[in-house]
Amino acid sequence: MKVLVINCGSSSVKYQLIDTDTDVSLAKGMVARIGMSGSVLTHKPHDRREVKVSAEILDHIVAIEYVVSILMSENHGVIKERSEIEAIGHRVVHGGEKFSDSVLITPDLLVDLRNLIDLAPLHNPHNIRGINACLKTLPGVPMVAVFDTAFHHKMPAHAYIYGLPYVMYKRYGIRRYGFHGTSHQYVSERAAEMLGKPLSELKLITCHLGNGASVAAIDGGVSIDTSMGFTPLEGLMMGTRSGDLDPAIILHVMAREELTLHEANTLLNKHSGLAGISGVSSDMREIIEAAKDNHANAKIALDAYCYRLRKYIAAYVGALGGLDALVYTAGIGENSPDVRECSCERLECLGIEIDKTKNNQAVGKQMDISTDGARVRTLVIPTNEELVIAHDTRRIVEAQ
Ligand code: AMP
Repeated sequence: MKVLVINCGSSSVKYQLIDTDTDVSLAKGMVARIGMSGSVLTHKPHDRREVKVSAEILDHIVAIEYVVSILMSENHGVIKERSEIEAIGHRVVHGGEKFSDSVLITPDLLVDLRNLIDLAPLHNPHNIRGINACLKTLPGVPMVAVFDTAFHHKMPAHAYIYGLPYVMYKRYGIRRYGFHGTSHQYVSERAAEMLGKPLSELKLITCHLGNGASVAAIDGGVSIDTSMGFTPLEGLMMGTRSGDLDPAIILHVMAREELTLHEANTLLNKHSGLAGISGVSSDMREIIEAAKDNHANAKIALDAYCYRLRKYIAAYVGALGGLDALVYTAGIGENSPDVRECSCERLECLGIEIDKTKNNQAVGKQMDISTDGARVRTLVIPTNEELVIAHDTRRIVEAQ
């Protein structure tokens, strides 16, 4: 079955056409700057070079139409007809408490998704826009919503409840939900394969370190805790997001700087984290370069990033009551020996020991980077969220 995987942001659509019979990604790409000047479609068929097409792309409907056209185009296409797209899988950020698994998209489901906008005002509206655009462009093709939160659905109450009046949970659904679920799920399954043991017998810590970053504690294939919370702002420090902080700071800064809610939101989500501390960049490559050139604030940002990650890893060993493997994934986790080495420092006491030579070799590829004698295996595993979405989509469509 050929599944079109769609990930919609406010001004972008990322896509991938995956043949789930072979797991080959036939083509992938992105439409950027939707509704702005300079809209551009970048498209890469699996067997030909990347192309860029500039066009006026006013909304998500036009964007999806462009995607379908290029997938069928004579020079850059990978299919001949629309009907070859047999199903569409949509990444939906927030599934709330209701969705513990992926679901077929129906008119009733769209109502449920609209009701969830309150929990994820920055993400879910764009996901819904993508679904509506596909309904117009590819009518009749079955569509599935795959939630970032679903994998964390079995988290126990002691991990998801915040120290607030319980009525806040009952009234507003304020609890930890966790995100990056498809990535944590994918790498935990690959880790079990690498270790040659059933996932049900393993205790794992998975570190998804991309522009957004989260850690998950996975016991027997079940996420029992994760660092992102009610929103994807909590936990690790990220490119532009603060991660954990004393909640009173927000009140203090809002009062002192006379910030509106919107401004405070922008401060925490767009001007904090690595970019905020370093003043250099939100891109880890540039932070590492600057730190090596002795840029004082880039060094603090890098050290703080790794230190916080190390604290989470150590805490999750406690949450799990042991550890079989530590997994690094996503842009930074897959490609940065520096971050892996720094975040594993002092964790020998927990059985985590990495081999420097292997660590330096593990750039963008699957590898065990632990020392031969280490009690805990440390693994680098490239993530593939789109493949999880494609497989889930097929499973749900075939079950109808
Ligand atoms: P993602 O969101 O998974 O695409 O990851 C994006 C992040 O990965 C950015 O912060 C990049 O700086 C980071 N990244 C990509 N390649 C490297 C690398 N070689 N070393 C350090 N960070 C990297």
